[in-house]
Amino acid sequence: MGLIRSILVRLLSAQPFEMQALDTLAETMKAASIIKTDRFRRYYKSSILPIPCLAYSDALVFNSNYYQMLSPDEVLAIGAHEFNHIAKRHIAKRLPRTVLPAAVLAIVTGYLFFINSASFLFVASAMVLSFFFFLFGSYYVNAKWFRKQETESDLTAVEFVNGTAMISALARLRPQKTSWLSKLLPQLHPTIEQRIHNIQAAMITKNSFNFTVTFGDGAR
Ligand SMILES: [Zn+2]
Repeated sequence: MGLIRSILVRLLSAQPFEMQALDTLAETMKAASIIKTDRFRRYYKSSILPIPCLAYSDALVFNSNYYQMLSPDEVLAIGAHEFNHIAKRHIAKRLPRTVLPAAVLAIVTGYLFFINSASFLFVASAMVLSFFFFLFGSYYVNAKWFRKQETESDLTAVEFVNGTAMISALARLRPQKTSWLSKLLPQLHPTIEQRIHNIQAAMITKNSFNFTVTFGDGAR
């Protein structure tokens, strides 16, 4: 897996950094694959990463502008969200629903062109184009399932880190771009408002649970 990480790091010209607090959190959250990585090659910052943070099975890449805005607690909150993706193997689970069916359909498309004796160049371009077309389609079809994983990662994160820091880290992402292009793209995350709302609801449940436990102890 180190190969894909090094390609990713080069493409994003990402700079590594160390953080003991993130390591401890990854261990608590059982994000095993990242712990197995050399401790100098777990966390990166990139100024050209087009999203706030990217999780790969053995590395986290933060957008450096976003990272700079975050307090230490907020970095841990974002880290906890990503560690849940890693611990639950979300990235690996996404492949059979996205890349794999798109690749199969692209091969079928190429075969259909091939038996109709199209030229090699035509078959090749039909395969490449149809791959991206089907890949895009699979993100649409699975968008709701993706959003469920995102909500699960937010809610699992606040079991381990400060919920208020998670909310403020998300709030820094507002306002979300709402160009006509982003409206056309499949929505793989719930909106920031929805995410904050879900976390607040989970925090209320957690606090009332803590209150019950404390109260129970006190009554003994
Ligand atoms: Zn996520």
